Amino acid sequence: MSTAPISNLPPFHNEPFTNFKDAEIKRATLEALAHVRSELGATYDLVIGGQRRRSGNSITSVNPARPAEIIGVHSAATEADANDAVSAAQLAFASWKRTPVAERVALLVRAADLIRSRHLTFCAWLTLEVGKNWAEADADVGECIDFLEFYAREALRLDAATTPIQYPGERNLLRYVPLGVGAVIPPWNFPFAIMAGMTAAAIVCGNTVVLKPSPDAPTIAARFVELLEEAGLPDGVVNLVQGGPEVGRAIVDHAQIRFIAFTGSKKVGLEIHERAAKTQPGQNFIKRTILELGGKDSIIVDADSDIDAAVDGVVASAFGFNGQKCSACSRVIVESPVYDTFCDKLRERVASLATGDPAENFATGPVINSVAKKRLLDYIQIGESEGRLLTGGTALDIEGGYYIAPTVIADVAPTARLAQEEVFGPLLAVIRAKDFEDALAIANNTEYGLTGAIYTSSREKLNRARDEFHVGNLYLNRKCTGAMVGAHPFGGFNLSGTDSKAGGPDYLTLFTQAKSIAEKMGVVSDKA
Ligand code: NAD
Repeated sequence: MSTAPISNLPPFHNEPFTNFKDAEIKRATLEALAHVRSELGATYDLVIGGQRRRSGNSITSVNPARPAEIIGVHSAATEADANDAVSAAQLAFASWKRTPVAERVALLVRAADLIRSRHLTFCAWLTLEVGKNWAEADADVGECIDFLEFYAREALRLDAATTPIQYPGERNLLRYVPLGVGAVIPPWNFPFAIMAGMTAAAIVCGNTVVLKPSPDAPTIAARFVELLEEAGLPDGVVNLVQGGPEVGRAIVDHAQIRFIAFTGSKKVGLEIHERAAKTQPGQNFIKRTILELGGKDSIIVDADSDIDAAVDGVVASAFGFNGQKCSACSRVIVESPVYDTFCDKLRERVASLATGDPAENFATGPVINSVAKKRLLDYIQIGESEGRLLTGGTALDIEGGYYIAPTVIADVAPTARLAQEEVFGPLLAVIRAKDFEDALAIANNTEYGLTGAIYTSSREKLNRARDEFHVGNLYLNRKCTGAMVGAHPFGGFNLSGTDSKAGGPDYLTLFTQAKSIAEKMGVVSDKA
């Protein structure tokens, strides 16, 4: 593998999806699952300044489809470990910020190449650690590679930036310089793509980071850090500390942390925003928060739409990865004239979804843990009191896994709890709208604003949606999940986040500060 710096790269392409219908790929997928199963249960250390460190406490990661199966046992960081990780990152920053951008870019490209060469192995880790079926795991790994490749190119573009105007008599420069040490705090639901994407964006700009993965997905992060090391990561540039809220708070509060790249729930994101706003003793920088939070995403089904296409899009958006996507459709808003027909077709489709072990590639699988299962059963109860159960509504007893039957509740009022609160699981609310005007008003009636979609055959309604459907990612006549890096920069409005637009042209600037430099011409010769 070449370790040469890169100053030019071929154009970006999204990683192609894997065709699991191909017999050879299917065989290789099963082999990868068997191989990863043979590596389950290993112990993993913290990584601070390139050194392995073991603490007295541990986090055990289990397979949500078979909780008796241990995926990995991870050292849990203390506050002292978190402080040491920030110090190690601070030390590494001094040289990493001076490392030429081409070398930082080369690191990302080498990491992408390594992941590509182990694509199905990473898919298997995702299947076993968080319960993604084959296609969902493939999409997560593909997006991870896309982020690395895309941010590599974006870093080169940013490095070549100039001021819009050259002032007469001056040489004007605009340099995007790194911020310093940052915290990267990802969620468990895209534990590879989002975790690696935020980390890669931070380090390619010259920052160093303390990465604190979710305790529900620590293994995939530990494996990524090992892979970065293999790709040539210098000590201290990415420091891995495992843990939950306590260690997360310790990192966020640290006086030397200059930015927090967080993806997760609204509740935690808002807490981080508040904590980051409090100036700590010794702090000399206004902490920056890059927050990508939850959603209550709607699909509008217009009376003039192709109902079958709408049902397909709603089912894929609501039940892909069991509704555990920030972009998942959790409310479908259907115009009155087609409401009953839509509900009938939807019930039939959802009831036919096969639920089971994602390692065996069922359409839907378990939710992430017992807390999520309980939360969903509680929401189903709330939903049954607020509307009419169309299908599902129960837990499923499969191998002791955390299964909930794909559930649809119809006749939910636009202001009901089920229509307003993020449930994050296989539970969909159907809301009746009088007409298009009413549907649009309902779609905009939550505190969120992440994704949304509309199915209609009317150009005028598409135009109205384009202007008035207030979400960060709007989809017209297609599902509201599955954002592609580069084509669909991702981030939400309102309390769905700071609209950082991951995978977009503005994302890397969030990890930098721009330094404007003006030199008076003719004073010092260029040759001097
Ligand atoms: P979460 O908010 O519970 O946890 C996210 C991360 O924050 C984890 O690493 C967790 O350990 C850490 N954490 C928890 N409490 C903390 C605290 N007080 N201080 C610092 N860190 C803390 O979210 P989750 O359950 O892991 O993920 C699901 C949520 O993420 C959903 O709300 C979903 O919509 C959202 N999400 C949003 C996007 C997006 O792009 N907008 C993408 C994926 C997921």
